[in-house]
Amino acid sequence: MAQVHAPHVVVLTSPGVGHVAPVVELATRLAALHGVTSTIVTYTNLSSPASSPALASLPPGISTAALPEVPLDDLPGGAHIVTRIITVVQRTLPHLRSLLCSLLGSPACGVTAFLADMLCPAALAVARELGVPHYVFYTSSLMSLATLLYTPELARTTTCECRDLPGPVVLPGCLPLHGADLVDPVQERTDPVYGLLVDMGLDYLHSDGFIVNTFDALEHETLEAFKELSDKGVYAPAYAVGPFVRSFSDEAAKHRCMPWLDEQPDGSVLYVCFGSGGTLSTLQTAELAAGLEASGQRFLWVVRFPNDKDSSASYFGGKTTDHGDADDPLSYLPEGFAERTRPVGLVVPEWAPQVEILGHRAVGGFLTHCGWNSALETMAAGVPALAWPLFAEQRMNAVKLASEHVGLALRVSARREDGLVSREEVAAAVRELMVGEKGAVARERARELRAEARKALVPGGPAHQALAAVVDMWKCAAPSPEAAVAA
Ligand code: UDP
Repeated sequence: MAQVHAPHVVVLTSPGVGHVAPVVELATRLAALHGVTSTIVTYTNLSSPASSPALASLPPGISTAALPEVPLDDLPGGAHIVTRIITVVQRTLPHLRSLLCSLLGSPACGVTAFLADMLCPAALAVARELGVPHYVFYTSSLMSLATLLYTPELARTTTCECRDLPGPVVLPGCLPLHGADLVDPVQERTDPVYGLLVDMGLDYLHSDGFIVNTFDALEHETLEAFKELSDKGVYAPAYAVGPFVRSFSDEAAKHRCMPWLDEQPDGSVLYVCFGSGGTLSTLQTAELAAGLEASGQRFLWVVRFPNDKDSSASYFGGKTTDHGDADDPLSYLPEGFAERTRPVGLVVPEWAPQVEILGHRAVGGFLTHCGWNSALETMAAGVPALAWPLFAEQRMNAVKLASEHVGLALRVSARREDGLVSREEVAAAVRELMVGEKGAVARERARELRAEARKALVPGGPAHQALAAVVDMWKCAAPSPEAAVAA
């Protein structure tokens, strides 16, 4: 007799809070709106303490399973973050297969669909082999997905480095992009990570659909163009289920920056944070400090340990500096900086409750690395941004945020060849955002985008409809657990 149970999905998340938190939010919505239960599958390797709060108190119907640790000691010491993640994804595939088989065989559970985070499309093949519908949960913009889908063609049809392409990369419904604004691992053809990204673009083609943390008002043309391509069978369909913005920090109310913000005038504070992993060099940290001081603006800065080699060095948490032994990132700030700026500034080490900070009435600007969650969070809070991209697809996100269509961000740009942003450039950009005319225009756009983001999320609105369409599809396509196990 066929077993009947509520739809149950398995969602594989790659490491990093910027991936884990949206996965938890997706699972929470699936449970609350559609009665769909989930198992969130995490990796033991590369797990970061910052992800723990998101996984700590899950609502009923959501459970977790961790894939066992696999050895990585054969990777070179400074292996790129993408290499490390993809190696873990590949080496844990047998464990994932066992987990899916045991869930498929469980009378209480079954697997209605399998969702792989954007960095784990190699895992789709396992679900496909087991006859389980398989989707990508894409935690960045649809435009960046379009560029990754284009990567195999880029590799096949060009021979130069993409920064030397004679013209912009123009993809359907996307902003024209300079080759240098494509994701950072495709910047060097000889880099082994280049091939991994090409494979990722090919793996995406096995997906039955893309569930994307974006919304129509932000990416209308890209969604339309993607729909045309999926109607023609070029790509699987994309569903805009965002924007997902939620804080998982119980400690927010207790964090010392909140009472400090309470004392600041409305819209006066620049919040400075480079996501969960963005890392500046020692010299850049000093220039940023001097620039903030010279700007004369109020600021709240989440300071990380510097690292001169890797702009994503703190992605998995902890101390990463290659300078000295100090245990406090604030000790790497220029001497006397914290004391001199105390009347207008607050520096906090490593981590702060970002969603609450952006939602505070005192915050009037965000100096951001343009990680996609940070981008959505600043939009949802109606706070204009200064875009300072560092790695991954952040340059592309910065182009989008500063584009005429979005218009939420001003750019911080370095004139020096080595990419160092000078204190003068920092100070000028900060003043322009906080008290300049361009900043005022960006602030107005930020307010409009906040209204659009809210509209996307109203009950019965576009995000709910998109998620409902996905769930309907799962319900129609669900194989019986017995059939899948037999396959
Ligand atoms: N975040 C935070 N406090 C911090 C730094 C980061 O709460 O001090 C959160 C931020 O709100 C966002 C996530 O961590 O939800 C970072 O994701 P994003 O996509 O912006 O960047 P990534 O860390 O993936 O580069």
